[in-house]
Amino acid sequence: MSDLTPTDSAPVQQPRRGLVLDRDGTIIVHVPYLCDPAGVVLLPGVREALLAAKSAGVDLFVHSNQSGVGRGMFDLAAVDACNRRMIELLDMGEQPFVRICVASEAPKDPAVYRKPEPRFAQELLRDFGYAPHNLAYIGDRGSDLETAARAGIGGIGVATGLDDLPAELAELGLDKTFPVFASLSEAVEHFLKTPL
Ligand SMILES: [Mg+2]
Repeated sequence: MSDLTPTDSAPVQQPRRGLVLDRDGTIIVHVPYLCDPAGVVLLPGVREALLAAKSAGVDLFVHSNQSGVGRGMFDLAAVDACNRRMIELLDMGEQPFVRICVASEAPKDPAVYRKPEPRFAQELLRDFGYAPHNLAYIGDRGSDLETAARAGIGGIGVATGLDDLPAELAELGLDKTFPVFASLSEAVEHFLKTPL
């Protein structure tokens, strides 16, 4: 009688991973209160970095604070037009991002999705079932990484924006928690090599 016990050769299911990217100063050049698609410029190496993440099976999201809407400076349609232009320049297909969250509140308004509110991250954890260490924010501001800290997930800084991110993180007490890299490529590479 042969023993037909199953072998252990069944494919191992890779844990699902996701990256939540800030937009201004992380994917595109930070132009304060940008509302004209003609002003959208990709930061260097961003397309290659996002393609590397995508080909490694990472789900990509965008979470962007756009208080210019809440302040009455422009409307959501202007934000959408800039997002569409960004996607066009990325040239990664119609919809490289699984979800895009635009937080339109002004700072004085009750925060719903405005970073550092962790609501969007919590929704992603709930809806996609990521383990907390398999979901991370990448951003150029303290508020991006404060969002990650409040959601209990990963965070990676990029020094590609207008602010002094290391100083902001030190002020928030998060400088020992999250690394800061000089480019999105290095940040994505760090995420991809972090043990699952
Ligand atoms: Mg930013």
